[in-house]
Amino acid sequence: MADCLFCKIIEGEVPSDKLYDDDLVVVILDINPRAPRHFLVIPREHIGTVKDVRGEHGPLLTRMFVAASNVAKDEGIAESGFRMTFNVGDDAGMTVNHLHMHVLGGRQLGPEG
Ligand code: 5GP
Ligand code: ZN
Repeated sequence: MADCLFCKIIEGEVPSDKLYDDDLVVVILDINPRAPRHFLVIPREHIGTVKDVRGEHGPLLTRMFVAASNVAKDEGIAESGFRMTFNVGDDAGMTVNHLHMHVLGGRQLGPEG
């Protein structure tokens, strides 16, 4: 989609530090990490937010969770623990309107919210 930062990252028009990719998802380091490990799991398909998810996205969502779990292992946070977050809308501070899962770990994260 035109003017979508994550579509441009997926197309390689904007550089990123890629940790993993396959036919459905791309995993990149967050440019402004809020934890020692902070990466983003992004579907190749442009889906705006969680509110736009439909039943047919089931396999894609499964792949996002499997990719997150596998990269968490690769990044050494699978045993210590990690948090997976989807921001939706202004109150959550969503800034990029292309569905993405944050994965954070490598420190005590404290209560969410
Ligand atoms: P949101 O706030 O929409 O849930 O998350 C968007 C995330 O994208 C933020 O954590 C922000 O740091 C990250 N981000 C913004 N621009 C870039 C960029 O150009 N490259 C990368 N790798 N991450 C970005
Ligand atoms: Zn997009």
